[in-house]
Amino acid sequence: MRIELKNISMTYQSPEGEVEALRDVSFDVEDGSFVTIVGPSGCGKSTLLSIIAGLEQPTSGEILFDGQTLSKPSEKIGLMPQRDQLFEWRTIWRNVLLGPEIRGENTPRRQAEVGRLLAQYALTGFAKKPPSQLSGGMRQRCALIRTLAVEPEVLLLDEPFSALDYQTRLAVSADISGIIRKTHKTALLVTHDISEAISMSDQIVVLSHRPGEVRNIHTLDSFRGVGAMERRGLSAFQELFREIWGELDVNV
Ligand code: ADP
Ligand code: MG
Repeated sequence: MRIELKNISMTYQSPEGEVEALRDVSFDVEDGSFVTIVGPSGCGKSTLLSIIAGLEQPTSGEILFDGQTLSKPSEKIGLMPQRDQLFEWRTIWRNVLLGPEIRGENTPRRQAEVGRLLAQYALTGFAKKPPSQLSGGMRQRCALIRTLAVEPEVLLLDEPFSALDYQTRLAVSADISGIIRKTHKTALLVTHDISEAISMSDQIVVLSHRPGEVRNIHTLDSFRGVGAMERRGLSAFQELFREIWGELDVNV
């Protein structure tokens, strides 16, 4: 699905006054592409994803999905939140089938598909266990399977790997970008990790400090068809890293 963000601005009203979170953000996400948003903490990244997911209305601007506006949250758009939000009182199996269950679509076909994903992720043996018996990486994969279980066309991923240690993070992010590409989903990932952005994406949108404005859009044509891990070894990787680092204007 193609997504067009047109002049999105967002100002929150709070008891302390107005908070301008986003200013005039415009970019396109092509069908089947993987776009990553990087920006400093508090610049409006999560706000932008919740607007795209239809959970919040922007103050101005509009979003088109294949040329159409959506008036309510759509099942075609799946949000994988920053915390895995697995329920301890449900088994892994019942956690990953939560979406279909809520929608009354817990069909044998869906169950077979979810079973296949669990097998692919070496999680079949954990299906009857509670989330607390899984490692951080396994939980993250379950959260992805839960998002995929409703078969969204668009995946919105909000800092999905931030709870993982560095090694696991590398493995899980490579893994997840692999699945997203194999299943031809359109994906929009939020991160503040420049390396992660370069390793996974077709395009990187750099946002400024709050209010988030588009500072630059990088198209990663030279990395096309190169896997997440292999990209990290290329010299172009270091060059792009330094460029984005400069744009983020990180103060230490
Ligand atoms: P990021 O995900 O980039 O860290 P957020 O989108 O969470 O940033 O927040 C952007 C800004 O908007 C922050 O200053 C935050 O405090 C503010 N904000 C987010 N949600 C609300 C809300 N519901 N009410 C008021 N201010 C909010
Ligand atoms: Mg956030």
